[in-house]
Amino acid sequence: MIIPKAEKLSAPQLQELESIVSEFKCTVLEIEGHNQCVYAILGDETHALMFKRIAGLSYIRKVDAIESPYKLMDRRSALVDHQIKIGQRVVGGDAPFIIGGPCTIDPNSPNLFIETAHALKEAGVDALRGGVWKPRTNPYSYQGDNNAIEIILRAREETGLPIDIEVMDSEQLKIALDAKVDILQVGTRNALNYSLLKEIGRKSAGTESAILLKRGRHVASPDEFIAASEYLVAEGNPNVMLCPRGTTPALDGYRNHPDESITPLLKNKTWAPVVVDPSHSVGHAQFVHSCSLASIAYGADGLCIESHIDPPKGIGDDPKQAITPDKMKELIVTCQEMWKNRYLP
Ligand code: PEP
Ligand code: MN
Repeated sequence: MIIPKAEKLSAPQLQELESIVSEFKCTVLEIEGHNQCVYAILGDETHALMFKRIAGLSYIRKVDAIESPYKLMDRRSALVDHQIKIGQRVVGGDAPFIIGGPCTIDPNSPNLFIETAHALKEAGVDALRGGVWKPRTNPYSYQGDNNAIEIILRAREETGLPIDIEVMDSEQLKIALDAKVDILQVGTRNALNYSLLKEIGRKSAGTESAILLKRGRHVASPDEFIAASEYLVAEGNPNVMLCPRGTTPALDGYRNHPDESITPLLKNKTWAPVVVDPSHSVGHAQFVHSCSLASIAYGADGLCIESHIDPPKGIGDDPKQAITPDKMKELIVTCQEMWKNRYLP
């Protein structure tokens, strides 16, 4: 990876760099961070001579050759100081970043979503979530509706909160990017869909959209999870958050096997913020609070929690696992307290 002296290379500088690496059959990818652009070399980038020539350029500060299967996500990469800004907040700044909202937006009851959004803003969430398109295990369950995006866009407009929507294919991605969705969620079922990951990384590169990548539920190992996120960054979007959300087989009584305990492992290996989803992990509203506290204790930078103003009236997962905005408010206060006392190895 190449770090320039200035924030960004000028066009002639980039051209010179490209011409050097092309002699070694490599290409250059510009990765735009908030304060600093870094440049990854793609291809067989082990040529010592190529490195020497790049390091000798007057406008290059450093050339890093990291031996890692995920050289951009690795803690030792130049992105170690990269910060992800969403709305007014830096994720993992001085308080947990909380994403809250219904599992699924009910297009027939837009007011339930809008009222939930206002109540959650009041409760103190930092971003709103809501499923427009849903990856359902059963093909006969509600699958989502293009029109539901208008409802969450209205909620963003009224509350000023950034929004998080899961996308599963190119068409949904295009609609979400056209709408400048703040957080593109990749669900557990697509967590290892490398062509989708590449497309999302490439098409969201240089935009303000961050990505929340869930962990593959069939116990994707920390390395496999991080390698999946590398696909997103290697296509140009470094604004990636890692989201443990429980794995299968489930722990008896929970919906999945809670996995917030991998947070320190992820943070030890990468620089990326970890945003745990306790809702899908435990799968019952009554256990969401303790799983949230445990996640913060393990060092998570944020949480993604399903919440609905009237859970029994919700669709998708809401009747069983959404917490009310009142409970969300209590949860945020106790998580902020836990945050101040957490132990970071
Ligand atoms: C969701 O967030 O509603 C969802 C379907 O999540 P996951 O991909 O973790 O199952
Ligand atoms: Mn859900």
